[in-house]
Amino acid sequence: MSLITHLDGLQIGRWIDWLRPAQLVLAAAVLAFGGLWALGYMSIAPALIGFILIAASALLTAVRAAATMEASVPAAPLIQPSQEALVEAILAGLPDAVVALDPQGNIVALNSRATALAPALRRGEPLSLGLRNPVVLDAIRRAGANGEVERAEFVLRTPVECWYGVVAVPVTPVSGAGRLIMTTFQDLTPLRRAEEMRADFIANASHELRTPLAAISGFIDTLRGAARNDPFARDRFLGIMEVQANRMARLIGDLLSLSRIELNEHRRPDTEVDLVAIVRQVIDGLQTLASDREVEVRLSVPGDSLKVRGDRDELLRLFENLVENALKYAASGKRLDITLSPPSEREVRIAVRDFGPGIAPEHLPRLTERFYRVDVTDSRAQGGTGLGLALVKHIANRHGGRLTIESTLGQGATFTVHLPALRSWR
Ligand code: ADP
Repeated sequence: MSLITHLDGLQIGRWIDWLRPAQLVLAAAVLAFGGLWALGYMSIAPALIGFILIAASALLTAVRAAATMEASVPAAPLIQPSQEALVEAILAGLPDAVVALDPQGNIVALNSRATALAPALRRGEPLSLGLRNPVVLDAIRRAGANGEVERAEFVLRTPVECWYGVVAVPVTPVSGAGRLIMTTFQDLTPLRRAEEMRADFIANASHELRTPLAAISGFIDTLRGAARNDPFARDRFLGIMEVQANRMARLIGDLLSLSRIELNEHRRPDTEVDLVAIVRQVIDGLQTLASDREVEVRLSVPGDSLKVRGDRDELLRLFENLVENALKYAASGKRLDITLSPPSEREVRIAVRDFGPGIAPEHLPRLTERFYRVDVTDSRAQGGTGLGLALVKHIANRHGGRLTIESTLGQGATFTVHLPALRSWR
């Protein structure tokens, strides 16, 4: 109450100051018309009318001048100059893009992430000049009008498609100075991509399972009907059903392995294993396939053993996938070189090089995606699930390593697994 009275007092004092120039005119008019009336040159009525006209015109001029001055007095700043550095430091430290707006929608402060999001944003200019997005502008307008937190989502399509969540929060930084709208832009792109990948993955997995399942169901019907009394057809169909059932079993096995490895990806294996023994075991296990495909497998190792920290079963799986792929897709090269390089300070390298048809460069970056195949029919014919290289990548990741793939069309491909050397393990 006392604060309001104080403010009213301040306002009245300011108006008295602005009306002061009119006081002089009023005093002169009183003297002039009073004197003329007193000396008998004018009767009371015209003297009064003359005085009222002059007084009204003087007062009107003074009131107009006062109103102009009032309008030109700047409103108290929403952010005090002494606080600007602090506000900027706070905005710079925030993980998201943030823009602070005054009630008219002009930018009062912004951080570098906001400039990266919309480079045309400038302090002092309306947000709508740098970010013409109706969803964003509407959320800000609603926050300003309701005084409540407003949220919305929008997509920026250039240069690449990115999703953002915008939160407009009205805040009052200085009492009586008006409301700021703190507008935060949160990058939802990784979240959306993960959602899309999950949906794609489920669609792909269902599709891969549905195909053999449909084949098995079809043959069950045939065996019950047309082939019921045909022992030759029955044996043939049961053989096909077995192949399809094995395909489903392999797919489910790969899916389970993938999810188990992903689940443990943050926990590095801590037992010491011998890579030379593991690679030898893989070659021995695939010797029959190599002979069937007439591929000569050569192994080059720097010594009798090469120790790393790892999970033996997972590493067996990793090299099985790489060697089997080379025997399946690159048998035409007739040769397969497996080379364990002498360990450097930091890493151990194992290269699986084939001399087959190679892989076109546009496929290389996508080869480790789940269900990605260069040729789906070829992969299915070879009993592939499309999950082998995804497994290889995740196993390498779990071991703190990585997989690199090099290939030239017509000259074969090299899949190199890089694992941390024992000494560099932390
Ligand atoms: P798949 O179960 O189909 O073998 P992978 O993830 O192991 O799945 O491999 C993905 C695709 O990469 C294969 O379908 C094949 O097209 C290609 N590929 C893998 N290894 C080789 C290779 N050594 N030479 C040529 N193509 C290969």
